[in-house]
Amino acid sequence: MAYTIDLSGRVALVTGGTSGIGLATAAKLATAGARVVICGRNAERGRAAVADIGADGLVSYLQADVSDDEQVRELVDAVVREHGRLDIAVNNAGNVETLDPSARTSVEVTPSHFDATIRTLMTSAWLCMRHEIPAMIAGDPAGPGAARGAVVNVSSMDAALLAAGTGSYSAAKLGLEALTVSTAKEFAARGVRINAVRPGAILTPMLERNLRGDSPQERAERVAAYEAVISMRRLGEPREVASVITWLCSDEASYVTGQVLNVDGAISL
Ligand code: NAP
Repeated sequence: MAYTIDLSGRVALVTGGTSGIGLATAAKLATAGARVVICGRNAERGRAAVADIGADGLVSYLQADVSDDEQVRELVDAVVREHGRLDIAVNNAGNVETLDPSARTSVEVTPSHFDATIRTLMTSAWLCMRHEIPAMIAGDPAGPGAARGAVVNVSSMDAALLAAGTGSYSAAKLGLEALTVSTAKEFAARGVRINAVRPGAILTPMLERNLRGDSPQERAERVAAYEAVISMRRLGEPREVASVITWLCSDEASYVTGQVLNVDGAISL
């Protein structure tokens, strides 16, 4: 018999599931049989994502800004109201809109940009866990041997590289990893596994905005600069991160918690 990941009967929430890594993850979870709710701020993008994934009605969209506690509470309540349970949460939503474009060093970042970056990239995932984990614990396990819940937080290789010029982004992601590990220890005995992934340079709309230069040649040079520090000599694809997240969410990873997994083609600087 073929080796498959079976998530039928599970209900998953993927924040930022309307684009890039989140979109690929939602599609993969649905392929494994889960009912998946994706969220994002832009409803038009949400509708397009649901249509794009297809998946026989297994995927639906709810509008929410995960940096707002009340909106996160309403989001999780709506998932449980609609589907009766919450088994899987992928806290992936993120943007770089809050980075200070004129700052070259951490000390030049304005306090409002700094606070907004921490809120968007770290606090929002904490707000999500704050509502997701109690909802998971309130439900029965989805089957014999199944965990009550599995959470995957999406960090970044920046949390390991800590490169010059990335202070607020790296701090937020490293903080997210700290929250992942300590919360995992708090809830391990209650059947909720919590892990994180650290994507490297993954070809998503977020990275594409970074790569876009004034000319095709400028873009090619930027891609080459990434490839030079990636041992596999290529950018990653969203589906390659989605596969790892899906495995972490499944019972195939039933003894894995409190871990941060690199998915980066071995970046070395
Ligand atoms: P992306 O293609 O730009 O997708 C980001 C998703 O997050 C979109 O669905 C976006 O939808 C949603 N989002 C952004 N802010 C939100 C908010 N406040 N509330 C709810 N949804 C929000 O980006 P991506 O590259 O897939 O990134 C996904 C995650 O991976 C991020 O946490 C990012 O930091 C991390 N990451 C990416 C890379 C990479 O190379 N791409 C590397 C390392 C880590 P709306 O705009 O409609 O809200």
